[in-house]
Amino acid sequence: MQPRRLVLRRFSRDCEPRTGHEDGLKYISTRGTAPVLDFSDALLAGLARDGGLYVPESWPRMEAADIRALAGLPYAEAAFRIIRPFVGDAIKEDVLHDIITGTYAGFDHAATAPLKQLAPNLWLMELFHGPTLAFKDYAMQLLGNLFNHVLSTSGRHVTIVGATSGDTGSAAIEACKDRDAIEVFILYPHGRVSEVQRRQMTTVAAANVHAFAVEGTFDDCQAIVKALFNDIPFRDEITMSGVNSINWARILGQVVYYFVAGAALGAPDRAMTFAVPTGNFGNVYAGYVASQMGLPVERLVLATNANDILFRMLEKGLMQRGDVTPSLSPSMDIQVASNFERYLFDLLGRDGSRVAQQMAAFADTGELQLADALWHKAQGVFAPFRLDDAGTIREIRDTLAATGEVLDPHSAIGVAAARAHLGDGSSPVVSLATAHPAKFPDAVKQATGHVPELPPHMADLYSREENFDVIANDTTAVKDAIRARLAQGGRA
Ligand SMILES: *Cc1c(COP(=O)(O)O)cnc(C)c1O
Repeated sequence: MQPRRLVLRRFSRDCEPRTGHEDGLKYISTRGTAPVLDFSDALLAGLARDGGLYVPESWPRMEAADIRALAGLPYAEAAFRIIRPFVGDAIKEDVLHDIITGTYAGFDHAATAPLKQLAPNLWLMELFHGPTLAFKDYAMQLLGNLFNHVLSTSGRHVTIVGATSGDTGSAAIEACKDRDAIEVFILYPHGRVSEVQRRQMTTVAAANVHAFAVEGTFDDCQAIVKALFNDIPFRDEITMSGVNSINWARILGQVVYYFVAGAALGAPDRAMTFAVPTGNFGNVYAGYVASQMGLPVERLVLATNANDILFRMLEKGLMQRGDVTPSLSPSMDIQVASNFERYLFDLLGRDGSRVAQQMAAFADTGELQLADALWHKAQGVFAPFRLDDAGTIREIRDTLAATGEVLDPHSAIGVAAARAHLGDGSSPVVSLATAHPAKFPDAVKQATGHVPELPPHMADLYSREENFDVIANDTTAVKDAIRARLAQGGRA
């Protein structure tokens, strides 16, 4: 096939309305040597060609009055005001407004991301009202619509290849199904995702969706995707793109709810703490971005399960890779938190060559040492919290008894982290509920004795027909399978 390259170009800059100071925000790589891109091209690129991650060249500001004005707005309207400066003139304002409104129209709660009070000063923000019942829908649905728009206006196609431990895959499939300009391949570890997660990926009957069950672990899947990204000829051959949280737009879609929670609870006049169940550092990094834009954030509590690489990093100033231990909160069973690189870029004074050096050393030795001053700076922003499976079960049980709310195991770790930080001051603590309890029925049953019910739109999940390919844990085998599927679809 004719390789289609991502072309560096401006999107009809002259015939579109200017949007003020944000006009033309550019994206740079954390490793400093990849091409500088506008929003649309950073969206399509996913990972930067120097192996780094794209970040905006500067942080757009939300002034106090802008934040105050968010209170009471419909979620999509708040989202538009926060997202617009990052997009600049890459997408026309009215088109962007329609895209964002359409993105959240199908969510199943009128507030989109409702806040519930659990105790004095303790709030839960429910981020599971999208189609696949995890917080990933809030950014992934947006990403699908943005891809669709940018591709259809430029006549391009992309092949999305992603790895998942469960939730990212189903969110990506839901967001990309039946889009003419997108083929989507999702690699998940065969036999190692929950049945609900697997069925959400394998029962979507769309010709452009391909679920690959790889005979390996999640880390193997992620390593294969990384290898494909770094195989530049193959990457260009299939016009490969990514939807993992290496994609900037994933982070952007997650910044919104920090502002929405903040404005509802008194920002900019009152600061708050957020407790965030953490795996790949994507969600909690979005909270950091919100703080850089002007949201008064006291602390971001980084809540992990037994896979505690980030916890130990904050305790010791040393990031040390270990083995992944399966837990009741599988979406946080991660040892290489890719988005930490984006924060590291800021810590190192936005010096791409220093980031490249440190990341190369980490890849070599499995260790990344922070200088003392930087380590203490990170401790001022992020507070570590860790909870094992027994504690997770206890938290689900205790929260149910005290409040009547059923938490999924990931959200339970967040609530436990929030409780541990309630004593810090008088500011509210918002705990992010990252999944619906019905997504993890086994853990919830273990804690409460009851199997949580799936929402009506998924009630027939167990009777839908499944479709997936089992593929060897091998990069070449995956490559061949992708080529074969693209040829079948007339794309190669
Ligand atoms: C992905 C996921 C997380 C972890 O989010 P990161 O952005 O990877 O830190 C937590 N909880 C659930 C339910 C998830 O799906």
